[in-house]
Amino acid sequence: MDDTALDYLQSTFGYAEFRLQQREIIDTLIDSNDALVLMPTGGGKSLCYQIPSLVRAGTGIIISPLIALMHDQVTALQQLGIKAAYLNSTLDAATARQIQSDLINGHLDMLYVAPERLNTSGFINCLRQTNISLFAIDEAHCVSQWGHDFRPDYIKLSLLHEQFPDTPRIALTATADEKTRTEIKHRLALENAKEFISSFDRPNICYRIVEAQSNAKTSLLRFIQNEHENDSGIVYCLSRKKVEAIAAWLTEKGFTALPYHAGLTAQVRETNQQRFLNDDAIIIVATIAFGMGIDKPDVRFVAHLNLPKSMEAYYQETGRAGRDGQPANAWMSYGLQDVITLKQMMATSTAEEKYKRVEQQKLEAMLGFTEIINCRRQSLLNYFDEILDEPCGNCDNCITPAETWDATVAAQKALSCVHRTGQRFGVTYLIDVLIGKSTERIQQFGHDALKVYGIGKEYDAKQWRAIFRQLISRNLLAVDFEGHGSLRLTEQCRSVLRGDVSLFLRKESKSAKSSRKGRKTYNTDSASKNKLWEALRVCRKRLAEENDVPPFVIFHDATLSEMMERQPATRAQFLKLNGVGESKLEKYADAFLIVICDHINNNETDSSDTVNESLLLFRSGLDADAIAAQRNLKTTTIYSHLASCIEQGELKLDDVISLEQQEINIIHETLLSVNDDNRKLKPAYDALDGIYDYNILRCVQAAVLPA
Ligand code: ADP
Ligand code: ZN
Repeated sequence: MDDTALDYLQSTFGYAEFRLQQREIIDTLIDSNDALVLMPTGGGKSLCYQIPSLVRAGTGIIISPLIALMHDQVTALQQLGIKAAYLNSTLDAATARQIQSDLINGHLDMLYVAPERLNTSGFINCLRQTNISLFAIDEAHCVSQWGHDFRPDYIKLSLLHEQFPDTPRIALTATADEKTRTEIKHRLALENAKEFISSFDRPNICYRIVEAQSNAKTSLLRFIQNEHENDSGIVYCLSRKKVEAIAAWLTEKGFTALPYHAGLTAQVRETNQQRFLNDDAIIIVATIAFGMGIDKPDVRFVAHLNLPKSMEAYYQETGRAGRDGQPANAWMSYGLQDVITLKQMMATSTAEEKYKRVEQQKLEAMLGFTEIINCRRQSLLNYFDEILDEPCGNCDNCITPAETWDATVAAQKALSCVHRTGQRFGVTYLIDVLIGKSTERIQQFGHDALKVYGIGKEYDAKQWRAIFRQLISRNLLAVDFEGHGSLRLTEQCRSVLRGDVSLFLRKESKSAKSSRKGRKTYNTDSASKNKLWEALRVCRKRLAEENDVPPFVIFHDATLSEMMERQPATRAQFLKLNGVGESKLEKYADAFLIVICDHINNNETDSSDTVNESLLLFRSGLDADAIAAQRNLKTTTIYSHLASCIEQGELKLDDVISLEQQEINIIHETLLSVNDDNRKLKPAYDALDGIYDYNILRCVQAAVLPA
């Protein structure tokens, strides 16, 4: 079988191989069959319709509900040299007409449209005159009335099948549950579609939950400072007030932190969102209103300062981190007050009884998740009916196993304290009684005369708060209905009180650090790598501004990381990087190659030890490749060492490279003719049509034109 699909993947998109089910999905469409695709965020859904659109004759029509994203997606495709356009309400009539005529005339590979377009007879007529390769229905869960993203226009998409029965369709979503899936199949007439259901695991996300110490804000700051100093991230808070306060505080600490909530004007929200997309290292502090339609691939962390109210919400919100597959952190701080607030909200909810029960169960699951001591990922996936056989190794509980302690006696003390004081008091008061504080209120109620007064002196107030939190989370204590925060006993607590069961609680105050931290922790010559990383980012930013696109449209972090690791010296090497296809090679390779080359040159001046080490190995008979392998450095780095030895007279040029004298002369002349004092090699490299790679040029330059 000829492999046009793989050709497109490699030469247009610049990726080496297909992920998981991409191949099969693409083949299904190429063979004119329908597909239903469930894949998590960042799984790589877009390629599943983009590649068949290119392989099949005609234009791929992509229906997407997120107008804000169409522009970005189309720009990204154009960067790859693909003829893509979009049609939505933001275009003026003349532009829209032009695009429709391009469509009919077969000038487009792909067209993105908003769903409401398909409900106009004008556009349907236009489609009838078009050669269509496929229909892709993105965010297909919008067809489901059960979910919360329901879009009435989606219902009518069933007409695609009626009007274009021979055109293959693919529906895609990251919403997994059975009910939604059934509804999609039914409403879009996809009963015969082949189903592709991927794992919903997001292995690059490290899940961590820390107990809120006295000040959650400080732990957040420490987390960002230690691990995400120059990264983009999202901080979620429950209230607008808190959003404003945290944004201000982070700004004060030197970060660029922008607020986002429904109380800001549409214009401010838009501006802040755009900055988040287009600039590096912006932190958005937001209520959960922020996120839908945010397609930024390089969000390195999502932090929660409040507990989400369900596992679904937690998965969705944390899922906005690391779409590019690079390491990312999902960090959450929570404490006793969160538990009480949420329990109160449930207790006082005015929702219908049956919804209330569902909400309650969801909250219980979320609370349980925060307290577990085994693998978070296993538990999270299990909630979505997916089994992960082994603990993941990339969550706080896997990295620093939680310890437990037998808290049966402590729990009994806490529970009897609730009981003896009449189930009318909140946590602070109860703790005062347990540790035997003498307050006016305690005396007033005569609680200093109780047997439980002062029986809990072995723990301090902070420890007691952790104990109470876990008792509430585990439903051994309940929060009152009136919303005053007083605690009462539950049916479940009796077996603990009677001593029938032992209770093990997690030990607090461990501080788990992510195993795969940010870029700052490369262990080999990390300072120098950091410099290169920053230089590459600056280069990307400049190109982004010149081209008026977000930086990630130029290259993703993953591609930049690879550049840093492999330090390509030639265009051929550059093309091997993941994410570099022919179009981007043409546009951007030179700019980045210069940055890398300069970096290598600069690095050598202050590193005589490392040069000497290479020299010794060279004299012992190893060639540059072998030295590179032995020293775990790049070959280009070794050549730059050898070049400086040539310059110092330690080595002769023909010790290092074998060239005819005639060739050396040509290179010499070229270097002279393009020389502009700053000893850049690129002009000579270009003038020589890339025949001699940078390693050779560097050595010749060292020999014939020492600095
Ligand atoms: P989704 O729409 O499922 O959230 P995307 O289609 O945006 O995900 O893909 C997520 C990221 O993964 C993008 O940066 C995309 O370029 C990258 N990607 C997709 N497929 C591959 C592949 N086969 N090899 C490498 N990167 C890929
Ligand atoms: Zn784990």
